[in-house]
Amino acid sequence: MECIDAEGFSAVARDHATKPRNHGPLEDFDGHARITGPCGDTMEFWLDARNGKVDRVSFITDGCGSSLACGSMATCLVEGKGVEAAAAINQKDILDRLSGIPLEFEHCALLAADTLKAACEDCLNQQKGSQKKSRSEKGTCGTCGNTDCSASSPKKDESEEEFDERRKLQSRLCRIRHKVIVLSGKGGVGKSTVAVNLAAALTLSGKRVGLLDVDIHGPSIPTMLGLERETIQGCGEGLFPIDLGEMKVMSMGFLLRNQDDAVIWRGPMKMGVIKQFLKDVVWGDLDYLIIDSPPGTGDEPLSVCQLIGELDGALIVTTPQKVAAVDVRKSITFCRQLQVPVLGVVENMSGFACPKCGEVTQILRSGGGRRIAEDMNVPFLGSIPMDPIIAEACDSGRAFIQYYAATPTAKIMRNIINHIAALGDTKQTMRHKETDT
Ligand code: ADP
Repeated sequence: MECIDAEGFSAVARDHATKPRNHGPLEDFDGHARITGPCGDTMEFWLDARNGKVDRVSFITDGCGSSLACGSMATCLVEGKGVEAAAAINQKDILDRLSGIPLEFEHCALLAADTLKAACEDCLNQQKGSQKKSRSEKGTCGTCGNTDCSASSPKKDESEEEFDERRKLQSRLCRIRHKVIVLSGKGGVGKSTVAVNLAAALTLSGKRVGLLDVDIHGPSIPTMLGLERETIQGCGEGLFPIDLGEMKVMSMGFLLRNQDDAVIWRGPMKMGVIKQFLKDVVWGDLDYLIIDSPPGTGDEPLSVCQLIGELDGALIVTTPQKVAAVDVRKSITFCRQLQVPVLGVVENMSGFACPKCGEVTQILRSGGGRRIAEDMNVPFLGSIPMDPIIAEACDSGRAFIQYYAATPTAKIMRNIINHIAALGDTKQTMRHKETDT
């Protein structure tokens, strides 16, 4: 709140910052939106409408005093307006009525206006839907208000405690647009390397990304990102991932006191910790969550896929040898059984990239990944050569694609990763089309 002590805040702005109006969530609402601005502050608006007019409006923010002042003023400007007119309230309207906040805090008014607009749009969409469903019929999940959400009502034979846990998990997952799991038939094929570089490439393209390392027995993500010394902080809300700006990282490795500690857990304990990871990590709003799964097709990847439920798909990493093909086939069958779309197969360590000129020489048999992908009718996304710089980057805690962006191998990797970003967009479009009809 200290920010409002700075020069340039009017008495009106100070008053709204210290005594925010319409503050706190609404239990029952027609429109809701939550947006995290480029400054990292999150704002959330709820509104309830009657006969096309805003009846009640409220907001919360984790931002500083100026965010509180802007959110509060936005709710005051809305009162008595029609929903469409409320959606038109802009940054300047909020700033004018606050009659003075310093230039460097004016973005808070933009965040308030954008979030309000999104909540109004949600309300208008909801109203269109309410021609089909009456308000009393709707069972909302309580976190996003979505009536179609699988967490809106208990499943048959589900205890109250299980339902509560599922809702909590869903409230985290609802805020993540795309969830991609990286799988491999066996360890050591480069699954974590691909996961780290996929997350880093998406971050570099401006996406908000979470990277979750669920590899309980061999968590290598902390080493690959130079985060070995990090430990996790938690509070009542949950566990906070390590925040690298646009990328947030959570790994089992952060919970081990010593990198050399071995984790000896039996099946149910493993499931418990994976569930906790998914349920208790405070990711906030993300465009992508990349999950580095334990290798194989056993209980651990199974629980990740089952708990997340709505995965955009799986990326399967393999090596070119024939023996690896058997495992890829198993991974594809595993995905099909769980109805997880296969986004594609990546053949890693395929040929050798000369460290001097980048030319790729096929030192061993290659093409196993492509053959199996074609055989099983799933996309083949490309081959990454064995490149000593990749190994060096992993060992020194640097994302290869970021630190060695100009190398020929980084270009190959980017082409592969572009498929994933594009596949995500295609899926999003498909989903919109489905809901539109
Ligand atoms: P997995 O997650 O499948 O067990 P990792 O991603 O941990 O495999 O990779 C195993 C090792 O291989 C790491 O040391 C990594 O640096 C190295 N590695 C992975 N891909 C390549 C590559 N294309 N070229 C050179 N080294 C690689």
